[in-house]
Amino acid sequence: MEAGPIPTSTPMMKTMLRCVLSLLLCLPLLCRIAEAQPPRFRVLAFYSETVEHDHVDFAHQAISFYTEAAKRGAYRFETTRDWDDMNATKLAGYQLVVWLDDFPHTAAQRAAFEAYMEHGGGWLGFHIAAYNDSGTRWPWFVSFLGGGVFYGNEWPPLPATINVDDPQHPLTKSLPKSFLSPPNEWYVWKPSPRENKDVKVLLTLAPSNYPIGMKDVLTAGDLPVMWTNTRYRMLYTNMGHGDRIFTSETQNKLLEDSLVWVATMKQGR
Ligand code: ZN
Repeated sequence: MEAGPIPTSTPMMKTMLRCVLSLLLCLPLLCRIAEAQPPRFRVLAFYSETVEHDHVDFAHQAISFYTEAAKRGAYRFETTRDWDDMNATKLAGYQLVVWLDDFPHTAAQRAAFEAYMEHGGGWLGFHIAAYNDSGTRWPWFVSFLGGGVFYGNEWPPLPATINVDDPQHPLTKSLPKSFLSPPNEWYVWKPSPRENKDVKVLLTLAPSNYPIGMKDVLTAGDLPVMWTNTRYRMLYTNMGHGDRIFTSETQNKLLEDSLVWVATMKQGR
């Protein structure tokens, strides 16, 4: 018995087959084009492994967290433990520098960072990154932070209620008015960066937390935990102690958004 025409021989099926075939042929090319798309921006995160253990834990978790976030956000997230990478040639390739658990200690590293920031570079600092005291001897950095000098901390690391200062701000507008932040070692600064007219405080430790701490207790005072000095493309956040920081969905979204916000912000927003 002679077989009838097979369905693929109808004009419509032929057209469909041609479409599928062309798509399949083009697929590797499309993939190559997608891979070749330049990242939206490039980030270089500095960290140390010879610092306080809890800070190293945070740095390692932050690297995993932002490596995943970079895939979602289509940006390049690179890391280095070599703080001598803080030089003009290296920094020229990045729109944002992140300090996860340390800060530059040599004059050359500091000078390179100053020049980078004074010429439009971006900075995101966590926790100990903003540490400064009379022994740090880096007045430019104190001014860059908005004037706050490290004054003390509570201990042990504890969760805390955080208040949003400006619910209209692009970084905080999707946050509730207040949220519970996972255990962290909370730092207090004197003077408070809020006293600087160029500083915009985004988050503050809620007064309802006081007294906070057991070994070291904070009983009162203005305690900003996230702020930007609007004279620079910069953002500081006090979160960054221990291995519990990334256990809050609310805070995770904020930390993911924070990096993108500061990397893409125009100075003075
Ligand atoms: Zn700490």
